[in-house]
Amino acid sequence: MFNNRVKISQLLTWEPAQQEVTVMGWVRTFRNNQFIALNDGSTNTNLQVVVELGKFDESLLKRITTSAALKIHGVVIPSLGKGQKLEVKATSIEILGDSDSEKYPLQPKKHSLEFLREIAHLRFRTNTFASVFRIRHSLAFAVHKFFHERGFLYLHTPIITASDAEGAGEMFRVTTLPFDNPPRNEDGSINFKEDFFGRSTNLTVSGQLEGELGATALGEIYTFGPTFRAENSNTTRHLAEFWMIEPEMAFSDLEDNMNLAEAFIKYIIRYAMEHNKEDIEFLAARLAEEEKQLPADKRSDMGLVEKLEFVVNNDFERITYTEAIDILLQSTPYKKKKFQYEVKWGVDMQSEHERYLVEKHFKKPVIVTNYPKEFKAFYMRLNDDNKTVAAMDILAPGIGEIVGGSQREERLSVLEARMKEMNIPAEELWWYLDTRRFGTVPHAGFGLGFERMVQFVTGMGNIRDVIAFPRAPKTAEF
Ligand code: ATP
Ligand code: MN
Repeated sequence: MFNNRVKISQLLTWEPAQQEVTVMGWVRTFRNNQFIALNDGSTNTNLQVVVELGKFDESLLKRITTSAALKIHGVVIPSLGKGQKLEVKATSIEILGDSDSEKYPLQPKKHSLEFLREIAHLRFRTNTFASVFRIRHSLAFAVHKFFHERGFLYLHTPIITASDAEGAGEMFRVTTLPFDNPPRNEDGSINFKEDFFGRSTNLTVSGQLEGELGATALGEIYTFGPTFRAENSNTTRHLAEFWMIEPEMAFSDLEDNMNLAEAFIKYIIRYAMEHNKEDIEFLAARLAEEEKQLPADKRSDMGLVEKLEFVVNNDFERITYTEAIDILLQSTPYKKKKFQYEVKWGVDMQSEHERYLVEKHFKKPVIVTNYPKEFKAFYMRLNDDNKTVAAMDILAPGIGEIVGGSQREERLSVLEARMKEMNIPAEELWWYLDTRRFGTVPHAGFGLGFERMVQFVTGMGNIRDVIAFPRAPKTAEF
């Protein structure tokens, strides 16, 4: 039986009083044939296990190597060593799994994140990744808790979709046709009628359209699932497979949407700060150490903990796209021609512009609203000026865009006209348009990239380090 074990995180809260205990974990280090630092993944703080000299066979002690798995029975006693309140004096040691430390790629020293990405199957065993994945878990849990408390239903939207009309990005095709010799139509094009679903299908880029169907009957829903984009962007903020949270609310406008997004972001950050204090502090220290290597002007003004506190305790800035462009046109980097990309009303902002607004000008998260319709999706509600749409992007320091959302166009005729303008085939989206035909209502929603949120809370610079097994161009080993 294994479930009589006590987790190390729990054990460390005990008052040592000769209690008998069974612990299991992996060896981090074994010093002087006497002190085992044992870790079981529940906390970065290792349990010190004391092995009395002469009590165990030499042959057993030899097998206590870094990463060997042990089952230890012993007594909880006060620790004389500094840095820990208690330790376990071993009465029995069982080797559950040997580990050849010569071949084990992780040594008890600091490894680069790049190296750890090459051994992503083992990187959970480092303190950094253990902290990241405990925080990721908390954030995911908090997502469900937040929406559940507000009466949103968790809607599971499909991963395989037939609509490639959404236009959010390049898609991955899903097919069972033989790619060396697919069935063809007379005109030479591929005959998808013979494909598995009898039509062309892809992996979803967003659950939004289906989410709207749910919201316009159930009231308030959210999705939280994997999302796929075949865009060839090798950046520290893009993955080919990532997780997205997409709430959708009936009877809501852009302002309700902003309020929801801001409350949501603050709530899940606060949850992690309360439940993962130790891990956040560990990552904060790690980040501070890393930043020491940077030139002074590249370092952040705030540490990770201060940054998170600041975000949960202050209102996000809310500005329109037009105001954002004005600020950029007045800015020093613009005047000194330091921006690489053009700044002009009607042109989409690039990340250098977003970063300026968030990191230099406002120094806090910024919600930018009412973008020109030209570079936003067809379903966003057209404003009375006929030039802008009721869109909102939330920009976060160090990350850039973390949320993209909008009030949706609920007026059938306006929506159809927009689709026509943008060459979106209305016939394919007949089911989507039905929501506007049968009892249409003002509604709004947004998409938050979960990994970007995890990056924000953990301070990890590369999105590949906050998902267990990253999928990116030329990257799918594990
Ligand atoms: P970006 O401009 O940063 O490429 P986007 O405008 O294509 O993002 P949306 O379609 O608005 O993104 O998606 C909603 C959210 O999903 C974004 O705000 C972002 O947090 C996240 N996201 C989008 N693309 C990716 C990606 N390739 N990898 C990870 N997260 C992403
Ligand atoms: Mn976007």
